[in-house]
Amino acid sequence: MHEPALPHLHDQDPEIAGMVEDEARRQYEKLRLIASENYVSPAVLEAAGTVLTNKYSEGYAGKRYYEGQQLVDPIETLAIDRAKALFGVEHANVQPYSGSPANLAVYMAFLEPGDPVMGLSLPMGGHLTHGWSVSATGKWFRPVRYDVRADTGRVDMDQVRDLALKERPKLIWCGGTAIPRTIDFPAFAEIAREAGAVLAADIAHIAGLIAGGAHPSPVGHADVISTTTHKTLRGPRGAMVMSTAEHAKAVDKAVFPGLQGGPHNHTTAAIAVALKEASQPGFATYARQVVANAKVLAAALTDRGYDLVSGGTDNHLILIDLTGKGIGGKPAAQALDRAGIELNYNAVPFDTRKPFDPSGLRVGTAAITTRGLGEEHMPRVAAWMDEVVQAASKQDESAVERVAGQVRELLASYPMPGWTPAP
Ligand SMILES: *Cc1c(COP(=O)(O)O)cnc(C)c1O
Repeated sequence: MHEPALPHLHDQDPEIAGMVEDEARRQYEKLRLIASENYVSPAVLEAAGTVLTNKYSEGYAGKRYYEGQQLVDPIETLAIDRAKALFGVEHANVQPYSGSPANLAVYMAFLEPGDPVMGLSLPMGGHLTHGWSVSATGKWFRPVRYDVRADTGRVDMDQVRDLALKERPKLIWCGGTAIPRTIDFPAFAEIAREAGAVLAADIAHIAGLIAGGAHPSPVGHADVISTTTHKTLRGPRGAMVMSTAEHAKAVDKAVFPGLQGGPHNHTTAAIAVALKEASQPGFATYARQVVANAKVLAAALTDRGYDLVSGGTDNHLILIDLTGKGIGGKPAAQALDRAGIELNYNAVPFDTRKPFDPSGLRVGTAAITTRGLGEEHMPRVAAWMDEVVQAASKQDESAVERVAGQVRELLASYPMPGWTPAP
């Protein structure tokens, strides 16, 4: 049963209620290894499902365009104060609807259309919004792309420096969606200073690790920091843009009225709740466990002959290169999903296959760590993955089904925030 319970929804719209319950069961029964996903707490779910969704609040606390902000103002202010305290930043804007609009706000704050922007290229682990060609950010600005090194799988900082000095981007992004290694914020900051560029750290994936002290912080190095709130930070779907006091006005003006209308107040409340949760000592333990689990899983996969981009991980994320395994990422991911192991196919650096059927699998440990799995479970997870990848190459569907049953059996001992099976 969903927690909080959904009695009115079941009455009013059993079709949707049924699918929500089924989705909850799916999340309960699967080993969720999608690196950008998590399980939020019932408290976050409750906050996100409140009457705050009824309220329009264009503007900022004390400067709104609609009346009736007696409670929304202090809620948003609390979310901001918690973000500032948790990350140690001078300014936070909690209104961006999601990570992509948050990043667009960074462009709006610092660039004019056509200005050069530098980011890690998408197939190397960067994000669409860092200037990739199909994104507005790649069409409306002039993208300059850096890569990872073929020999190390890590960002090529020499190339970053050379390109920055040659192309003089106005904005440099560090961070991405498929980076298994620590981001060297001080090194990026030095290059940005030399090149006269604004440095933006996109910590969407690692915000929770930073909050929990399991990854170095960009604060003091980056001029502006964007993040989603729903990945390792374990909040509702949403985003924040944080900055030094110097850039506060530009950031706020870019989010509203630059790009958005009314903020999603129910999401703001849920972000505030998630930030409170992330400031408690248990969250630091969680963040460290996420990384510990990823490291053990990476080692176990390596032992089984899997080739990992960069040879391992420093964070929550593992990028597997299946090139030597004789199977593409897509059929492997599909078989793994049938086996109750949910992840996504992903390009690997210098991928020779097409984006719709690339060579890699991306794995993350944020959600399974929330579920309560520890290092002791990781060798078994690696063994299951290996079994399914081999079964998929041989079209052995019975092995896939056997693993699905074993996964369900293991997970039945680990409660899921937000859903409990009927007794
Ligand atoms: C997930 C992600 C985003 C975008 O977030 P959405 O909420 O999906 O728009 C932006 N940047 C990075 C690095 C991400 O991983």
